[in-house]
Amino acid sequence: MNKIILFSALFLSFSSFSQQIHKCGTHEAMQYQETLNPGYLQQVNEVFSRAKDHQNQDRSTVYTIPVVVHVVYNNADENIPDSVIFNQIQVLNDSYGYTNPDTLNLRDTFNTIVGTTNIQFELATIGPDGNTTTGITRTQTDITEFGDIGFLTGDMSGVERIKSTANGGEDPWDQSRYLNIWVADMSVLGFTALMGYATPPDGLSNWPAGSTDGMSDGVVVQYQAFGNNNPIPLDPGTGAIDFRGRTCVHEVGHYLGLRHIWGDGDCTQQDGIDDTPNAVENSQTYGCDSLPQNTCVDNIGILGDLPNMYENYMDYSSEHCQVAFTLGQRDLMRGVIETDRWDLIDNYPALTVSENNPLNLNDYPNPSNGNITVSGLKGTNTIEIYANNGQLINNINSTESDISINELPAGIYFIRISNSNGVVTKKLSVIK
Ligand SMILES: [Zn+2]
Repeated sequence: MNKIILFSALFLSFSSFSQQIHKCGTHEAMQYQETLNPGYLQQVNEVFSRAKDHQNQDRSTVYTIPVVVHVVYNNADENIPDSVIFNQIQVLNDSYGYTNPDTLNLRDTFNTIVGTTNIQFELATIGPDGNTTTGITRTQTDITEFGDIGFLTGDMSGVERIKSTANGGEDPWDQSRYLNIWVADMSVLGFTALMGYATPPDGLSNWPAGSTDGMSDGVVVQYQAFGNNNPIPLDPGTGAIDFRGRTCVHEVGHYLGLRHIWGDGDCTQQDGIDDTPNAVENSQTYGCDSLPQNTCVDNIGILGDLPNMYENYMDYSSEHCQVAFTLGQRDLMRGVIETDRWDLIDNYPALTVSENNPLNLNDYPNPSNGNITVSGLKGTNTIEIYANNGQLINNINSTESDISINELPAGIYFIRISNSNGVVTKKLSVIK
């Protein structure tokens, strides 16, 4: 009898859950990781602070992130065609480039705080083995749905199987060099439960080896929510979900460090970005015009108290409302790339910093004894050294071709070299 009651309660939970599909599981995934590795959330917050404090004046260099899409499918519908994948990459580039036509729908009041991120994406053309690739993997699995009952209580281990060949999914490519995006069915008992989730940058490379387990870095998207031309509609009767490929835009925002625009709380708990209006969660079931207009008082510089920004990709508003990132969000994501996720850009052969004035940081030993020489520089360069907490500890402007920096104490540092041709950031471990 108790089992029947329990099952009925769970089923009712599912029913109500599925009536309003969970748009994003990133917040839950972070809580789950914290249970596996206490201190994880603090580490994520530290990476956020470091990225936010990373005051880089260069916002014009286009960072292109190599992407691998892993299609994990049980049936033909889930084996989405290449055309949907190409379309999703285009939607990412339009959204992060602020070139999508429906930016016209942005209310004028936000015009001065939005724009391009100068972050772009491309399917990887060189695989981890050095050979050419389409940037797409396809894996047929016996698993009919990766969601499970544990998800209702915050256990993400079921959906995490998508990222593991041994568990019926597909192993990631080197997560420091590729943005891994998995596309699969995360349904639970036939209900579409979750549209996507992502892992935020967490500085795990700074954790002692073997001290962490749990989530695998990257983005997961429910297969019907991928692309803006997806031929498979979401289950009828589960709500009028309007997919425009922006589930993936939202999840990549988390992957690059952004939080939900309402900070997963009330008016007192916000997203840490200065120019996003304070708000509470907007539901995807509302149309853009019927949303609550201004739920929290804020003060965005000369703009004052702005209304809720349902146009923001990091809201839960319907996808046809979402058209923009703010400049503050741009800066945070670029800060993440320039500090915690720098290897995505730095190690990929497609990156060309400069052909006539190469910035070469391969000359110093790494790990280092603290005496560093950067050689082969040309022109005028700015060399900044940041501590692991984001604090700028050295700033050198020089026209020298060789620059020596002596006696850094033991620790992790980020060395950023910039000139008129580009910017390179390297992580350096000093061991005494
Ligand atoms: Zn989210």
